Amino acid sequence: MNRRRVIFLGPPGSGKGTQARKIAEKSSLLPISSGETLRREIREQSEVGRLAANFVESGLLVPDDIITGVMIAGIKKLPSGTGFILDGFPRTVPQADALQGGLAAMSMSIDAVVDFELDDAEIVKRIVNRRVCTKCEEPYNLESRPPKVAGVCDICGGALTQRVDDREDVIMTRLGAYRAQTAPLVAHFARQGLLCSVRANRPAHEVEADILAILESPTSK
Ligand code: AMP
Repeated sequence: MNRRRVIFLGPPGSGKGTQARKIAEKSSLLPISSGETLRREIREQSEVGRLAANFVESGLLVPDDIITGVMIAGIKKLPSGTGFILDGFPRTVPQADALQGGLAAMSMSIDAVVDFELDDAEIVKRIVNRRVCTKCEEPYNLESRPPKVAGVCDICGGALTQRVDDREDVIMTRLGAYRAQTAPLVAHFARQGLLCSVRANRPAHEVEADILAILESPTSK
């Protein structure tokens, strides 16, 4: 892979997490999901989890300083040279600035931002059909990717559940947060020459092929 420090940007339900896991299987890149990180902190009832819980459950963005602190601390702990895919972080311009400032201080930079394009009707349909494993967080879709045995994770045998924030009333709040706070990052990263878009409304293997081609393309640096 020529591009080894990557951001996956896009609305909830656009397939960022699924693709991050697929790409990780085929590369040495480590998938790092901000949503999974927060849900783990909430389960462990840590200080961060306690501060984040109400925001996550109601579909609002967690304040920038909380998420930025936990994500940059995680990146700092990685063995040097580790390539990674940030799934769901950054989600605001101040988060992007903090991330890029933190990376620069470690003599690192972002090599590509992959923007997942998907329209609202498809987003809602995908999210209401989403189920995730309670143990390993592997995502399923009741229509397009059902588990082999209903309610059971194919990979680890864990029980599948619907995330509390995947209920229809919360989805609208999450979409609103995406449009107001996260979508401006598309133009932000385009100005930096980092943006690469993929049409996410296609079979997962086609989206994956496009992403692999982006990651294998030479960087301009
Ligand atoms: P996700 O699993 O990426 O859909 O994230 C689930 C929830 O975690 C979001 O709706 C937010 O409440 C919170 N969250 C995840 N990433 C961020 C972020 N970068 N900034 C603020 N809140 C976040």
